[in-house]
Amino acid sequence: MMKKIAAVLLLTGLPALALAKVPVVASFSILADMTREIGGDRVEVVSLVGPDQDAHVFQPTPSDVKKVAAAKVLVVNGLGLEGWMGRLNKAASFKGVTVEAARGVKAREAPEEEHDHGHDHGHDHGALDPHVWHDPVRVQTYIGNISAGLIKADPAGKAEYQRRAADYSAKVKALNDWAAKQFAAVPAAKRKMLTSHDAFAYLGERYQLKVMAIQGVSTEAEASAKGVAQLVRQVKKEQVKAVFVENMSDKRLLEQLSKEAKVQIGGKLYADALSAPSGPAPSYLALFRYNVETILKSFR
Ligand SMILES: [Zn+2]
Repeated sequence: MMKKIAAVLLLTGLPALALAKVPVVASFSILADMTREIGGDRVEVVSLVGPDQDAHVFQPTPSDVKKVAAAKVLVVNGLGLEGWMGRLNKAASFKGVTVEAARGVKAREAPEEEHDHGHDHGHDHGALDPHVWHDPVRVQTYIGNISAGLIKADPAGKAEYQRRAADYSAKVKALNDWAAKQFAAVPAAKRKMLTSHDAFAYLGERYQLKVMAIQGVSTEAEASAKGVAQLVRQVKKEQVKAVFVENMSDKRLLEQLSKEAKVQIGGKLYADALSAPSGPAPSYLALFRYNVETILKSFR
């Protein structure tokens, strides 16, 4: 047996340690992608909430507890996105490094909602808007936090994490420069959009878009008939042309609204999750570019 292992090591020419990657769990697909970009070959990242899945209403299973228990690093968004994480963390007795990606970000407050939400379902409602990743400028803070967490858990990789984080940061900056230029070319009066849940306020703030939504910042909240009727009037009055469904949330209300307001749905935005690898948004960079292009097409 020992002979066999020694032979394998000789063949690969690598010390056994180089084969052991740092096990990382990310709460949802967008963070998992960012962590892979920064961690490269030194990390093995799994995402709890998968592509096209809704991180607000996720229900962890016993296999998720095992994943977290085996991880050395846990990457979460924070700002109330993962109301289910506290219990999962406890069940897994996680003792590794926790990275809160949004830590230190200047967060937006969630707008007052004009409808009731059922408060008896045991999830947390943050008063802050968690969808920070739709602002690539604030995402620079995510990159810094994730790379600092990886370095803490795996100091030997420091130089590589720093180099990869700097490369990735430059790509995210270029993406923002491109988007800013594109949006600036659209007259301000046309920069109005409507989505299912209120996931794009950071995008709106960054590029001066007026963003309306049927639901609040969580997909858990239910829209009221009164709220929907009000939105129909607003969409008609302001002649909103850009109306989008989302990849991970229920589209029925939006379809109903688009019918009542007589506006066409301008496509699908990737709000809180990546697409499958074969889809148009398999990475954060691709997701952001795809969303911007989809919105611009509707504005024009
Ligand atoms: Zn959301």
